[in-house]
Amino acid sequence: MKTGLRAPLIAGNWKMHGALAESHALVEAVRDGAASMSARVLLCPPSVYLTSVAGWLQGSRIALGAQDLSEQTGSGAFTGEISGRMLKDAGCEYVIVGHSERRALFGDTDARVAAKFLAAQFAGLVPILCVGETLEQREQGRTQAVVSGQVQAVLDAAGVDALEQAVIAYEPVWAIGTGLTASPVQAQEVHAMIRAMVAALNDTIASGLTVLYGGSVKGGNAGELLAMDDIDGGLIGGASLKADEFLAICGAASI
Ligand code: PEP
Repeated sequence: MKTGLRAPLIAGNWKMHGALAESHALVEAVRDGAASMSARVLLCPPSVYLTSVAGWLQGSRIALGAQDLSEQTGSGAFTGEISGRMLKDAGCEYVIVGHSERRALFGDTDARVAAKFLAAQFAGLVPILCVGETLEQREQGRTQAVVSGQVQAVLDAAGVDALEQAVIAYEPVWAIGTGLTASPVQAQEVHAMIRAMVAALNDTIASGLTVLYGGSVKGGNAGELLAMDDIDGGLIGGASLKADEFLAICGAASI
């Protein structure tokens, strides 16, 4: 089992799902079920529920994260935006940056993702940097080029030392919400490439870096993915909305 800095981390990304009452029930169930588990557990609800979820999680080991933040580090006339400082005030420790849905639907370019990464760390949050290729890119044999380009954009902006306080999530776009999962070998190949890329700059940071896998992870396939050398946990979408399925994943990460 991986321990120390790379102790398994299971993060639930609720996306734009749920209502307040359902969210409360889900948090209570996850909180009770995960109480005796060793995995690090993180919940990323919609921003408007962060303060409520922070309250429900009080006294538990479960951490709180947001799904996105503004790249602006100060305050100002940015209607609809939420700053890292506000997320920190709401009780967040982590924030997802560069999720493929933000990249594809909301114009988050590599440059903006890098700016969001920096804004997260500026506010004292741990960014979870999402990277991953589309099906077309995989079929063209461009997986490594695409993923390494996404990581490089952040390395160029933030430097390798910034990865000491960050998490990377490899999420093949073709596996997100589709029921298709990268095989453990396919995922391990990309995770090892990411770690090697960081190791070429700083070996110590690379060996402590948590690299999550995301893409249709469920209770039934979590164990085989988490058994791979460079897979340190999961970023979970759909299955994080069902307490029993999410707890099965947390359980597989706690063995
Ligand atoms: C995600 O959105 O980050 C994700 C991995 O979703 P799913 O688990 O539903 O594929």
